Amino acid sequence: MSESNPIAQAILAYLGTHQNQPFGTCASEVAASNTLDIDDVKNTLKRLITAGEVTRRPRAGVNLASAQPTPQAQTTPQTQPPRRRRRREKEFYERIRKWMTDRKEWDYGEPIPEKGKKRPKDLRAVPDVAGVKYFAGYLDRIDVHAVEVKAAQPDSHDLSEAFRYSRFADFCYIALGKEKIRDKEKYKKYKEEARRLGLGIVEYFIESGQRKETKMVLQPTRQDPDALEKSRFLAESLHLYQCQDCGCYFHEGEGSVLDKPRSQKILQSRIVEDGLVATAKRFRCTKCMTG
Ligand SMILES: [Zn+2]
Repeated sequence: MSESNPIAQAILAYLGTHQNQPFGTCASEVAASNTLDIDDVKNTLKRLITAGEVTRRPRAGVNLASAQPTPQAQTTPQTQPPRRRRRREKEFYERIRKWMTDRKEWDYGEPIPEKGKKRPKDLRAVPDVAGVKYFAGYLDRIDVHAVEVKAAQPDSHDLSEAFRYSRFADFCYIALGKEKIRDKEKYKKYKEEARRLGLGIVEYFIESGQRKETKMVLQPTRQDPDALEKSRFLAESLHLYQCQDCGCYFHEGEGSVLDKPRSQKILQSRIVEDGLVATAKRFRCTKCMTG
C-alpha cells in the first residue's frame, strides 16, 4: 500500500503517537480528527494490517509494525495483584435461598426476578430472595420472609432498604458478605440499628469454602405487614394465591385467577368517582372449581 494514500497517512501518523489502541478506537479517532468516513478508515486500516504495516493483536490492539510495544498484559507490573472481579450480589441469591430452605427458616423460597426492580417511577420495594413458611391450624397462615443480599460493605442504606420489605413481609433480613465487614465499631452500630428495626442479619462468605459457614447472627422479629400488600407480593412475586373458597394456599397453575365483583354496594360512589374497577382478581383452586 502506498503511503501517499491520505487515509493511510492519517492512520500511520495516529499510530506514531498512539500505542495499543483497540481497532475500533483507532478507526473512530482517526475518522473524527481528519473528518474522514469511518468505513473508509476501517477498510484502509484493514488493508494496512493485511499489508503488514500495522499489527493487530489480542490485548495489544493495533500498532505500527515498525514499533512493537509489549502487549498491555505484560506491561502491568508483576507485583500488582490481578484486578479482582467485583462480585455481584446476584451470584449469592441461590446460595441464600438454599441455606434458608435447608435451615427451615421457610418451606419454599425463590430469588425474585429483576424485572421491574429499577423502574424509576415504581416505588415498590423488591427483595432479592423471598420465601414462605406455612402454618396450618384451624385456618391457614403463611409468613413471608424477604432478604436483601449485599456483596459490598455494610451501609446504613441496607437497613432502610430491608425495612421497606416489612410493608409486605413478616420477617426481613439482610445477608452480608463476611469479608466486607471490616469496621467492627461501625458494624456494631449497624447491628444495633438492625435489631431496633427487627431485621435479621445473615453472614455468608463471598469466597465460599466447605468449612466457611453461613450464619444467622441476628434473628428477625415479626413485622406487621399490610394484608393487601402481602397478598399482592405473594401473587405477583412468588405466584402463591389463597383460594377464596377453601382458604388454602396454592401455587400458580393449581387453580385460576378469576374476575369477581367487588363489594359494589359499599363502593358504588367510589367506583364512579375514582373510576375504580367493579371487579377484582380472585383465586379459586382447582378442587373448589370442580366442586
Ligand atoms: Zn379452594
